[in-house]
Amino acid sequence: GDAGVPGRVRVAVRLRPRNGEELVTDADFADCVELQPELKRLKLRRNNWDSDTYEFDEVLTEFASQKRVYEVVAKPVVESVLDGYNGTIMANGQTGTGKTYTLGRLGEEDTAARGIMVRALEDILAEIYPETDSISISYLQLYMETIQDLLDPANDNISIMEDPKTGDVSLPGATLVEIRDQQSFLELLRLGEAHRFAANTKLNTESSRSHAILMVHVKRTVKGIDSVLSSENGNKSHVVKILKPSVVRKGKLLVVDLAGSERIDKSGSEGHTLEEAKSINLSLSALGKCINALAENSAHVPVRDSKLTRLLRDSFGGTARTSLVVTIGPSPRHRGETASTIMFGQRAM
Ligand code: ADP
Ligand code: MG
Repeated sequence: GDAGVPGRVRVAVRLRPRNGEELVTDADFADCVELQPELKRLKLRRNNWDSDTYEFDEVLTEFASQKRVYEVVAKPVVESVLDGYNGTIMANGQTGTGKTYTLGRLGEEDTAARGIMVRALEDILAEIYPETDSISISYLQLYMETIQDLLDPANDNISIMEDPKTGDVSLPGATLVEIRDQQSFLELLRLGEAHRFAANTKLNTESSRSHAILMVHVKRTVKGIDSVLSSENGNKSHVVKILKPSVVRKGKLLVVDLAGSERIDKSGSEGHTLEEAKSINLSLSALGKCINALAENSAHVPVRDSKLTRLLRDSFGGTARTSLVVTIGPSPRHRGETASTIMFGQRAM
């Protein structure tokens, strides 16, 4: 892939370390992948002798810190949002591979463990002047093509509005909360998580079956630069001040914790779960097609195919910066799912 093409999705792959169970049950087996971070390559084992090699924009090993992951995956997107552009950071992968760890970890007990959402807000808060600027948050769940408000559980069917002229996407029904400090942001995230858990219990589903979407609206008033021209001749001096009007910069950051990408066994499932599987397949495959269209510089990016891609429309491609982390586990038992996650990431390259 060509990292220089504007609008292309940048893709990092992140490997989770073996968990306690994998250390025991897979002790005699090698990981299904081998990472070569300096070469930005990943080798996926085919069998004991052969492997296939894939390239990514970044390859993050099981030793990569949360700080490093933030810096390579999120920071450029956050900076462009502060400059008044839209941007998206998303994570895709099988359930249990570290999407929420990467994006949503609060790290209250250990600040080094903080994930992308918390670090992004910290960077944004540091650039904001409370008198003239604002940060507002919405937090949503997208389940079975329905958007639910995680900040107001009564609000369970939010519609997407698109400005036909500008292409701007808005959610007029969604709660928008202005925040001024990290503490109130953490409280909102906790509240959203609690509502997500309650909503999913009521619907008899799991959070891995829905997408969680954090929206951060940043509005900054950037003062025009005052230029001062002065000239001196003899004892006369002239000072000319030029005042430029201040400009308002509006940026929007989307952080998207995607539904688990694992294939759901259709033979054993019925009703609810089959519908869930279809809906997840629909949105992830629509997303994959859009990522692919951007990579190929295609004039047609099929954003209309799902609610997920309609939501992302103004924060994806064009002047927006988009970053995708694909998360994988090391276990040879999940080689099939790992392979399909890798192939999803490769669609952007
Ligand atoms: P997902 O959101 O993809 O289902 P989680 O983020 O919930 O996965 O991660 C599953 C488990 O693995 C959690 O217990 C999490 O703390 C742990 N985990 C994930 N990624 C890492 C990592 N890079 N380092 C250490 N533990 C991790
Ligand atoms: Mg998760």
